[in-house]
This record gives sequence, C-alpha cells and structure tokens, in this order.
Amino acid sequence: MWKTRVNQSLAKEREKNRIRQRQVCQTDGALQSMVVNEQRYLNFSSNDYLGLTHHPKMIEAAIQGAQKWGVGSGGSPHVTGYSKPLAAFEEALASWLGFEAAIVYPSGFTANQAVIKLLIEREDQIIADRLSHASLLEAAILSPGRLYRFKHNDLESLSQYLNKPLQDHAGQLVITEGVFSMDGDHAPLDQLALAAQKAEALFMVDDAHGIGICGQGGRGSCDLYGIQPDILVVTFGKAFGCSGAAVLLSKRLADYFIQFSKPLIYSTAIPPMQAVVLQAAMDLIQSAEGEQRRQQLQRNIAYFKAQMQTMLQTIASHHGDDYYSPALIDSDTPIQPLVIGEELATLTIAGKLRQQGIWVSAIRPPTVAPNTARLRITLTADHCLAMIDRLVAALQTAILDRE
Ligand SMILES: *Cc1c(COP(=O)(O)O)cnc(C)c1O
Repeated sequence: MWKTRVNQSLAKEREKNRIRQRQVCQTDGALQSMVVNEQRYLNFSSNDYLGLTHHPKMIEAAIQGAQKWGVGSGGSPHVTGYSKPLAAFEEALASWLGFEAAIVYPSGFTANQAVIKLLIEREDQIIADRLSHASLLEAAILSPGRLYRFKHNDLESLSQYLNKPLQDHAGQLVITEGVFSMDGDHAPLDQLALAAQKAEALFMVDDAHGIGICGQGGRGSCDLYGIQPDILVVTFGKAFGCSGAAVLLSKRLADYFIQFSKPLIYSTAIPPMQAVVLQAAMDLIQSAEGEQRRQQLQRNIAYFKAQMQTMLQTIASHHGDDYYSPALIDSDTPIQPLVIGEELATLTIAGKLRQQGIWVSAIRPPTVAPNTARLRITLTADHCLAMIDRLVAALQTAILDRE
C-alpha cells in the first residue's frame, strides 16, 4: 500500500513537470556568486537581503561564541538549554521591537506552528490572508479550529469573516504577513490591525521578510505601519543572515507559551553560539552600517525596477503580443517577482538564465496561484549595478529567445 501510494504521487508530479530538486549550492554572499555542479552563477535567488551570511562580524561572533560557549545547547530550554546568550538575546530583541517578551524557536516554520497549535482550540476561527506562508496555513489546517482565508490584503473580505457568528467561549485569530514571500508586497497592517481590534480578535503578523529591511532602523513592517500586533513572528534566516525565529508577545502570553508550548518544551534550544551570532546580526542591523546596507538595497531595488521597465517596454513595442508579456509585480521590497504565467515557459526562461550564468528560482503552483508561475528575483545589498545590468540583459535574451 505505501509503495503504491508513494509511486503514484511521484508519477503524478513527474507528469505535471513539477518534480522538485535540491541542488548542492556553494554560495559566497559578499560576491553574490554561487557554484552549482561546478558552474558559477550570479545569485539572484537568496534571502540574504543585507548580505550578512558571510559578514566578517558574524563569522567572528560564531568563532568567539563557539570558543566561549561550545557549539550545542545540550538540552531543551526547560532543562539546561536556556543559555546566557540566548536569554540575553531574547531580552534585547523584545526591547528593540517594543514587546514585553520574546521566545526563540529553532525556525520560523516551527514558531508559526507553535503559535497556532497552542492558541487554537475547537470552535476557534483562524482568519488568514490567502497568500500566507505554508507554515501558517498547514498549521491552521491541522488545528482543531476553522480556517478561513480572506482575499489577499482585502479589508472587506477580512471583515466579512470577522462578522461570522462565534461561540461564546471561542476566539478569532487574524493572520497576515508583513511582506509577502512570493509577491513582495506589504500588508496594510494599520487597517488590518484596527479591524482585528474592533472584533476583539488576536492579531498575528509574520514578518519574515520585513524584519531588518523596513521600518525605522530595520524594526520591520509593524514599525513601518505604526502598529503593535498581539503576536509578531520574526525569522532569522533572511535579513539576519543566520537561522531561527522568535515570537514576540506580552508577558502573560509568554508565560502561557513557556508552560504549554510543546515545540519549545520538547525541542533542543538553539546553540548559545547561534544566539551570539543573532546578537551580532541585530547589532549590525541597528548600526550605521546596517542603515547603509538598507540604503544600498533600496538603490538596487529602484535601479532594477527602472531598468526592467525599459526592457519590458522594448520587448512589448518590438514584438507585440506574439510573446508572453511578463510583468513585474509592484513591490518596493527585495522580492521582485516577474510573473510569466505558464509553468513551462517559466522553467524555460529560468533555464536560459542559467545558461547565461544567472541563478533565479522559478516558482510554480501550488506555491503560487495557478497561471501565475513566476521568476522570484531577489536583490541584496551586496549586488552592484553592473550585476543588475547583467541580470536585465540576460532576462531580455531569455524572454525573446524562449523557443
Ligand atoms: C521563510 C519563511 C518562514 C519560515 O521561516 P524559517 O525560519 O525558514 O523556517 C515563515 N514565514 C514566512 C513568511 C517565510 O518567508
């Protein structure tokens, strides 16, 4: 039975051309170069938005952290794993972001699952933006509550769900992201927070792609929109250049998590060495250098968008409708999706880019909606304008020469 099931599922994916493959990648953040199968590529596919993964201060922190504290935490936070650097980092993070408490989890995926698992009971309603990350939607589907998915960034659609009848003892949890991982756009957090507050719902924001990038000093999307959600999840695998995540919340909610959150209680705490690195990342993000890196990133984003606009216009005016008309989703974040539409065309264009030494990921359904297959182009502070010129020229060639 198992064998048939596995074989059939794999065969189906193969038929749809949707087999996913992991590639061994050797990246060098600062140079934006990546070696795959002994070929060197210019990397436009990384979430290392500020270029911190290879930053000398981060590497130094890792070395010193390991020398002083060892490489493993030796236990869950409730046993012996709650190290001094971890406790200090949680406190500093909470204070930086203006929350009473922060709880670190080993990954954003785990943190999102932990929040939903702990808070949602039978009859509760989860009202999540349709485009929420898989870690949120999967936890919501597996939870005993009901999941409603409101239209992307649509206040009216959210309000309709918030008005649904609710049992006396039940609650509503509204979920959205600060910056959407596949579209790169912002959620209108001020409006959504207000709607949630009016309905006495809890409001949760996953700011995986906003923290370190937007807001004053890189405080993220909530700062940008001047709100404080009940629960904020930030992750450390993107702008922080490392890995892990934290849930920011009130002291009372934190107590509840510390008593009852099983992914916290029964999982090994992050290594103290990692907490030292995360502290270094947070210091860098808040420093003058962090500000410069954000400015460089914004310059790269503006330059890329301007060059793309010219390039796409050239294609449209010379070739009319004979060609697909790829379009950039309007985004002012490092995530710059070029929507192609058809899956095969998207794969072909990504392949042609690779032939030209450029690495961009093709994102296809079910990760994104049907007929919106896209190239998810990401920019970082360490790209230079010449690299962006190379990308745009290669895209033009790849789009025109698709056959
Ligand atoms: C990357 C991401 C996560 C998962 O975080 P990890 O730390 O990589 O597990 C969660 N939510 C969003 C929106 C993400 O983009």
